[in-house]
Amino acid sequence: MTTQPSASYRVDPHTAQLFYIDGQWVEPTQPASLAVINPATEQVVAEVASGTGADVDRAVAAARRALVGWAATSVAERAGFLEKIHGLILQRQEVLAQALSLEMGAAISFARAMHVPLAAEHVRVARDVLLDYSFQTLQGSTAVVREPIGVCGLITPWNWPLYQITAKVAPAIAAGCTVVLKPSELSPLSALLFAQLVHDAGLPAGVFNLVNGSGPEVGAAMAAHADIDMISITGSNRAGALVAQAAAATVKRVTQELGGKSPNILLPDADFAKAVPLGVMSALRNVGQSCSAPTRMIVPRQRLAEVEALAAATAQGIVVGDPQNAQTVLGPIANRAQYDRVQAMIDAGLSEGARLVCGGPGRVEGLPKGFYARPTVFSEVDPAMRIAQEEIFGPVLCILAYDSLDEAVAIANHTVYGLSAHVQGQDLDQVRAVAARIRAGQVLLNYPTWNPMAPFGGYKRSGNGREFGVQGFEEYLETKAIVGFA
Ligand code: NAD
Repeated sequence: MTTQPSASYRVDPHTAQLFYIDGQWVEPTQPASLAVINPATEQVVAEVASGTGADVDRAVAAARRALVGWAATSVAERAGFLEKIHGLILQRQEVLAQALSLEMGAAISFARAMHVPLAAEHVRVARDVLLDYSFQTLQGSTAVVREPIGVCGLITPWNWPLYQITAKVAPAIAAGCTVVLKPSELSPLSALLFAQLVHDAGLPAGVFNLVNGSGPEVGAAMAAHADIDMISITGSNRAGALVAQAAAATVKRVTQELGGKSPNILLPDADFAKAVPLGVMSALRNVGQSCSAPTRMIVPRQRLAEVEALAAATAQGIVVGDPQNAQTVLGPIANRAQYDRVQAMIDAGLSEGARLVCGGPGRVEGLPKGFYARPTVFSEVDPAMRIAQEEIFGPVLCILAYDSLDEAVAIANHTVYGLSAHVQGQDLDQVRAVAARIRAGQVLLNYPTWNPMAPFGGYKRSGNGREFGVQGFEEYLETKAIVGFA
């Protein structure tokens, strides 16, 4: 496909100054705005209204009013709305891809091939799960009924903006809940397009509401809100913990999808010529800004030199550049703060004595503007180093060596996180046995294709609760036992 001009991106500047509440675009309670910066140019590309607790109150009130009616709709009705939303995402995929590229620097080919289609998949899956789901089962004489939990506050990050939105909104409304969405203040444009799309799908007023704004202002007001029944946040551990604290007083359900530092164990019988390049690309795709990125490659010590050579060849072959160019694999890092964090972590790796295999600090040659970072590989990384322990969220891969299988598993589990893990090897029994020993919510064997039905979420500090598939849907349900029913 040829490069598309960013002119094909359309968020009406007036709409950007509004919130979507109770089925219409409305003025914020107080005029305030935040700038959206294109990370490829460092230029302001939009001004978006920034809300307050008063806007959250209005949105929650609308969601509360809509709840009884929406919860009473039939499965077929809700499935029909999801079908329409799914169709509109596909119909508007180019505009959505352009918005994502503009707001967070996604390479346009990647936005078209991954960000948007995967976001659509969450909607399709929510519809399919809904159509198959048994909301009432009988356990002896007791009916166990699953009911929508109520009004849900949904807080999403900037790294996979649309994907994270549909992963929450679709199961929530499928379950019969009504929602207030607060997208990341750093990537609000695709969210505005999504709100218009939901409106155009004809969803009843109040079922879906959107308030833009900062975490401490709008997100915190949602977390503490007495009339929100559940908060689902995807973001950093810091924000996840703050949300849980703010939510505690009202005893609402909190689900958290937080950080990760995922291991990728290469067993001695793995096909290294394939497993290493695929591992590098899995770690670095989306410029390493994926919570589940396998950023710790754990390899047999005697194969270290071979792994380094394969990893360097792969990383050095990655085309970094203008996200609007269809050949670009990695665009810039999504924002200045994240660029600075990544640079600080690369410096930490160097000062702690990890061996730089390729990349390193500073800007990419020939790209003096924009938050471009160099695809970086460190080897001989000690499991205790900061770069092995802290989430970097940039294009940085750490290679760690092991001498025994037990040591490989111990390194993999030596982290406060437990979101995702990979195991590579030809002996499937051994691969499965290693997977069983890893403390993570999702373990991927030999780079399987993405399964949007597979539950996704964290052990340990990677979070609480699950997204995607049946388990993701059930997060939005309460359980009622009607004893003596039969
Ligand atoms: P962030 O924590 O800065 O922001 C995430 C969201 O939380 C934003 O909408 C933000 O406005 C909001 N927020 C911030 N402070 C808040 C507060 N006090 N109260 C309420 N809301 C608040 O995270 P980010 O930088 O946007 O995203 C990157 C992080 O998200 C990484 O740590 C990454 O691992 C994590 N992430 C996790 C998953 C997952 O599924 N586990 C997926 C994607 C990203």
